[in-house]
Amino acid sequence: MTLPVKILRRKTRSVFVRDLGIGSEHPISVQSMCATKTQDVEATAEQIRRLREYGADVVRVAVDSKKDVEALEAVRKAVPDARIVVDLQESYRLAEKVAPFVDKIRYNPGHLHHHEKSVPVREKVAFIVGAAQIHDCALRIGVNFGSLDPAQAGADPIEAALSSVTEHIGYLEELDFTRYVVSLKSSDPNDVVAINTEFAKRFPEIPLHLGVTEAGLLPMGEVKTRVAFEHLLARGIGDTVRVSLTLPNERKHEEILVGKSIISDVYAGRFRSVPTFDHDGINIISCPSCSRVENSAFVELAEKVRTAVQDTEQEKLTIAVMGCRVNGPGETDDADLGLWCAPSHVNLKRKGELVGSFSYEEILGRFRQELDLIIAERRGQLDP
Ligand code: SF4
Repeated sequence: MTLPVKILRRKTRSVFVRDLGIGSEHPISVQSMCATKTQDVEATAEQIRRLREYGADVVRVAVDSKKDVEALEAVRKAVPDARIVVDLQESYRLAEKVAPFVDKIRYNPGHLHHHEKSVPVREKVAFIVGAAQIHDCALRIGVNFGSLDPAQAGADPIEAALSSVTEHIGYLEELDFTRYVVSLKSSDPNDVVAINTEFAKRFPEIPLHLGVTEAGLLPMGEVKTRVAFEHLLARGIGDTVRVSLTLPNERKHEEILVGKSIISDVYAGRFRSVPTFDHDGINIISCPSCSRVENSAFVELAEKVRTAVQDTEQEKLTIAVMGCRVNGPGETDDADLGLWCAPSHVNLKRKGELVGSFSYEEILGRFRQELDLIIAERRGQLDP
């Protein structure tokens, strides 16, 4: 397939992350995330340097505790020129602690409901905005299908995500804060295309950060990401991208290479994807891993799961493999079988229900047993 016309980016405003402009007036930037332990300052700084050498424009670091904040300050000193972004998980108050050391903060609307339930979400957002303003940071409203606003439970995920992001855009605009981008991510590339297309229509001026979350292992992780990015970028939608691949630490920079190659292919008219992502057959989603990974065996486990299902490729099943308790429990809910890693065991879930917790030695056998049961039930060989 070749492109008949030059791609026209949709016109957005510019959002600056330090000196990097994000928006239609600027080249599409590429981001990645450290998977080192943040408290291992030297390893984290080294990974940031390496990602930047490969062309990362912005690098995300995970911060969950006071010790992580102290480490972040040291990382900031070690790589003063890097554009660093931190994602807030449930503790919105961390915003004021991390803001002095970063250039951008990402918050997830779905995570603002859990702590300090008596504080209205609007006030929590005002707190984050205040920290960003004082310390010259940009923001990203990062909506994720795996952790939607609980107030939207039961709604169609695309509508729920749009409603949540609309509410938060309202909060930011009321506060007269326009230095933000939006991301709307799902592990399903078709959903990523649908929701970003709709968002671009409703909010043409707001820059979009694109990503297929938990795209997983190569080569399928790249295929899923290509399907989404080719459709969106070719229509001028998307101002910055993150490719989320399950890779060992020393290969993390491949996220950048894949992101850059998709962008350059789209602009050269080289398309590889089919119009929609074909869900027939087994679909493995796995997180890209980050410093929160609870056991370094995670990437290997994801590889082993892929090998263990090779003879069942025709089965229409979704398997989720996640690295930690932060996103593992929620993001495995919709999978037929979900595994999320704890330090010394792996939790196995079937359609959102916990089957049990198993050691790293036991898990593959138990996983396969459950997989065979599901397949047998579907074929009517067993009662469900
Ligand atoms: S699931 Fe956990 S380890 Fe995996 S990327 Fe998300 S936060 Fe990091």
